[in-house]
Amino acid sequence: MHVGTNWDNAQWSDACFCMMTGDGDGTTDPEQVDLDTMGHEMTHGVTSATANLRYSSESGGLNEATSDIFGTMVEWYANNAVDKGDYLFSDQSTPPWLRRFDKPSLDGRSADCWSKSVGKLDVHYSSGVANHFFYLASEGSGAKTVNGVAYNSPTCNGSTVTGIGNQKVAAVWYRALTVYMTSTTNYSGARTATLNAARDLYGASSAEYAAIAAAWSAVSVS
Ligand SMILES: [Zn+2]
Repeated sequence: MHVGTNWDNAQWSDACFCMMTGDGDGTTDPEQVDLDTMGHEMTHGVTSATANLRYSSESGGLNEATSDIFGTMVEWYANNAVDKGDYLFSDQSTPPWLRRFDKPSLDGRSADCWSKSVGKLDVHYSSGVANHFFYLASEGSGAKTVNGVAYNSPTCNGSTVTGIGNQKVAAVWYRALTVYMTSTTNYSGARTATLNAARDLYGASSAEYAAIAAAWSAVSVS
């Protein structure tokens, strides 16, 4: 903790299997220790010990998205009145937010939809496709207010998606990460991995399985 001077970041290191946090930028950003940020960094340790997604190209985007997803789920689980569950990432340490799930491109850099070139983006922006998938599978497409925050999630294929709740999507993602994904899994592989996980948990003819498939199609991953 308190790494550097005005270091406005937090970071996981596989070398020490530890994380580091800075004190913020000294003006708008406080110490970088809010619930979703800490969950994000610790999740890098979980990923390292399981699928070990390589930290570049599409697998790197999936690595980053895994940390955003479970970091956010830590915030939901904590149910803290000061830092409520939301689909905004680092909303306390980098107000109003650093990344968001309903329409990741609102940060000016992240991808909403998969394309052949998405793997060329920095992993913190190619993650947008999976973050967008997570929101759509959890809450569905269109406008919605959750815990007082207004979201509006588009789909890339014009479809309407109905969500199954973030608990179920997180369970699917965790099983996909720990059972089916490997170090080189790409977006197409993530679709297969999560569908395998949804089949295991809920059955191949379940609404959950259908929602996972629909959400991937809605971010152009087939
Ligand atoms: Zn990260």
